[in-house]
Amino acid sequence: MLVKNRLLIPGPSQVPPEVNAAMARPIIGHRSGDFAKFHEELAKKLKQIFQTENEVVILTGSGTAAMEASVSSVVNPGDEVLCIVTGKFGERFAELAKVYGANVTVVEAKWGETYDLDTVTKLIQEKKFKLVCATHNETSTGVTNNIPALGDLCRKYDALLLVDAVSSMGGMDIKTDEWNVDLMVSGSQKAFMLPPGLSFVSISPKALEVINNNDSTNYYLSLKKAKKSQDKWSTPYTPNVSLFYALDEACNMILKEGLDTVFMRHKLLAEACQEAVKALGLNLLAKEEISSYTVTAFTGNVDTEAVRSLLKKKFGFAVAGGQDSLKGKIIRIGHMGYMDFADLFGVIAALELCLKEVGYPVELGKGVGAAMDVFYRGGRD
Ligand SMILES: *Cc1c(COP(=O)(O)O)cnc(C)c1O
Repeated sequence: MLVKNRLLIPGPSQVPPEVNAAMARPIIGHRSGDFAKFHEELAKKLKQIFQTENEVVILTGSGTAAMEASVSSVVNPGDEVLCIVTGKFGERFAELAKVYGANVTVVEAKWGETYDLDTVTKLIQEKKFKLVCATHNETSTGVTNNIPALGDLCRKYDALLLVDAVSSMGGMDIKTDEWNVDLMVSGSQKAFMLPPGLSFVSISPKALEVINNNDSTNYYLSLKKAKKSQDKWSTPYTPNVSLFYALDEACNMILKEGLDTVFMRHKLLAEACQEAVKALGLNLLAKEEISSYTVTAFTGNVDTEAVRSLLKKKFGFAVAGGQDSLKGKIIRIGHMGYMDFADLFGVIAALELCLKEVGYPVELGKGVGAAMDVFYRGGRD
């Protein structure tokens, strides 16, 4: 029987045919006037999606490249850095800051929960931090963390705020400037619906001043060089021009659909997915109030790995499992970027059939019915 492959992991995500086609355009030199003109226009579109007046630099490299570029461009050995860790990607910031010699203070939340604001507030009041690192959307657990509260604290106590929005920018309403985020990082292969290989950082004037006065030990991942080149609409080294074309097309698609519509679609997909999971008697890993709009993680009294492999084999749906301590215990469905309701109804229907096959009690249609209900009513109560 024919089975189509459908990529519903929380990144890389599905790529629209228009974006794939854009990558077939002829390569141009990155020191040419044509590239400069194109780059300048592209940066304007990216700034709209980031909701920022700050410059957004585009790096050739996956999301972690932008994370490392940010940390290494700001941190000197011995600097005090606060890392808010709510899962795998929060840990990455702490590891990076340590690699570059920072004195790292870690605030940890149980996986599936968000950070405790009182604890963070106390720490920031007690100690002068140069940099605070946080994850907006923790892809490993499906939790969205409160960033505006951190922005207020960092403004008040004069720390730079670095935020990882790799799996949420382009799908969720992120107000970079209003939230006072100095360095906002994202990547290509999540809600931006691009192939992997590009990452982005918006740089506030305050962050730029620190970066320009820093003796950083980086070379390829220097934000100082990236920003200096960008001032002439160039890049320090050869960029992935094909992915720049793809980014341009993806930005056009996002802006044409309209940011508000894109954000509403992601919210509705998330609500529909969460309601389906609950209707099937499965358990959401994160409470609804802190649930991500781009990825849903759930567990249940069932062999999740067996369900996952059946989903792939019988229906071609690739969904993710858990990482580290959650390995083998959860399923994560990505609903970001180039994803519509037919995709969601499909994966929930397939999930029900696979659950039934491994012996989990399912009344067929119950999950997909709950998802349809959210779609029909335009939201849940
Ligand atoms: C995917 C992701 C990253 C970046 O990972 P790469 O593999 O380097 O692209 C960083 N943070 C979060 C929250 C992510 O989801």
